[in-house]
Amino acid sequence: MKLRAFGPGKVNLCLLLGPPRADGRHELVTLIESVSLADELHLETLPEGPDHVLCPDVEGENLASRALAELRARGWNGPPVRIEIDKRVPIAAGMGGGSADAAATLRLAAELAPGRPEEVISLATQLGADVPSQLAPGVSLATGIGDIVEACDPLAAHGLLLVPQPYALSTAEVYREADRLGLPRSAEDLDARFRALTAAVHDRARLPSTHIVNDLQPAALSLCPPIESALEAARDTGADEVLVSGSGPTVAGLFWGADGADRAAAAARSLSARWDRASSAVPVSPEFGLPVVA
Ligand code: ATP
Repeated sequence: MKLRAFGPGKVNLCLLLGPPRADGRHELVTLIESVSLADELHLETLPEGPDHVLCPDVEGENLASRALAELRARGWNGPPVRIEIDKRVPIAAGMGGGSADAAATLRLAAELAPGRPEEVISLATQLGADVPSQLAPGVSLATGIGDIVEACDPLAAHGLLLVPQPYALSTAEVYREADRLGLPRSAEDLDARFRALTAAVHDRARLPSTHIVNDLQPAALSLCPPIESALEAARDTGADEVLVSGSGPTVAGLFWGADGADRAAAAARSLSARWDRASSAVPVSPEFGLPVVA
């Protein structure tokens, strides 16, 4: 049997950093949007043998392999599989590609042999804080360390400009830099912002500028100053909002309106001579991530 599924990248339209917890992880409030720039996973069942994940672009253990191994350790009894990943989401770029692949692997596995949903969610959380939000792509509001997820309605029509940078940033290092710069908010501030954000996120809402913020951006800029010129260039294309996605360094531009996708595409074309991986994308719904028979 052959199946195919997309693992869409994400942009954090809002990322508010709270205080560190006792275990060193930070409380977060983040509005995550899955986008059409997506990895493609091709699964084939095998008559026998161990599972294989092929993903030449990623060195070291692949999060998709770990997802499969952990599923098996929990008694998942699907047939052996080979999964090949076409990487399109930039790596170590703040777009959550590893989490997207792990989540897509869990969706593919569930198609072959359904597991208990609560077990899948707890496994997702163990694989990484961003994995639960990617189990069902779309718009979600995440709290905790990003692992407590509430699905949201889609926002008003918009397109996104994505400008990956020729540098990688380690998420852990960006958080360390954020601490060094004293960026975390107080628990009270985080809570007040969370309530305001929740009220602003509703069906077809155009998110006000005050909520399009990434508290990790100054830390990413401090570690990787050239991001500033990409932010400026994105602003110059006419984007309504520009920000670094997640822990960076990818720069995202937001273009509101029914013509947003076209404006984002034109912006990507205008930046492609300088950033050859500049592209445009649109938000995607949970259906985009569903496995299909190949
Ligand atoms: P975050 O989810 O923390 O925002 P990111 O988007 O910045 O992460 P990823 O592309 O998910 O970064 O990769 C982070 C690291 O995870 C990579 O450096 C890579 O070594 C490892 N990794 C493991 N599996 C994958 C995968 N399938 N795709 C990308 N990276 C992977």
